[in-house]
Amino acid sequence: MTMLLLDGGPVAPDAPVTRIGGVPLAPVGTAWPACAVCAAPLQFLAQIHLGDLPGHTAPTAGMLTLFMCANRPGQCAQWSPGAGGNLALLLPADGLRPVPAPDGAARDLLGLGTVRAAVAAQTAPAGATILGRLGGTPDWLQYDETPDCPACAQPMDFLAELAEGPDPVTAMNFGSGRGYAHACTPCGRAAFLWQC
Ligand SMILES: [Zn+2]
Ligand SMILES: [Zn+2]
Repeated sequence: MTMLLLDGGPVAPDAPVTRIGGVPLAPVGTAWPACAVCAAPLQFLAQIHLGDLPGHTAPTAGMLTLFMCANRPGQCAQWSPGAGGNLALLLPADGLRPVPAPDGAARDLLGLGTVRAAVAAQTAPAGATILGRLGGTPDWLQYDETPDCPACAQPMDFLAELAEGPDPVTAMNFGSGRGYAHACTPCGRAAFLWQC
């Protein structure tokens, strides 16, 4: 079963809900993550509350948190699930706090321009803006690129797909493509990649 992610409008930047933009939440003491390629801070893209996923595809408690490097667009292998130009974290849903921004980093490189709630729905009303999809199977733009879990080497489960977004202020840079998030919940690992 697939659910759509619809634009739910503005929401608080630290809201513990599925959203694009705002500030990342993580357990206390978590440092802002850096790009493994250029070493500059990653940009927070989105978080997906796993309780929004349809049915059995994931545990109901947890947060999938997505980052990508915005410092050197196209030069840090941002599309790759394993190169470190992006980061997907599978976090517990409880006890999450805003991650302090690193000193001296430009705000627009740390986050999107605005914050929008992403609301799971079975159908899209006329005029609704679709931000992505949850569950089901990935709608690959190219070939099946299901990542293997770096811990157990099994294919990861598909969790969510993200569109770049309609608004240039909030849009993510997937080369006009789509982002795909997978996870291996027994190992607590997640991966993000995009295709265009
Ligand atoms: Zn980078
Ligand atoms: Zn695994």
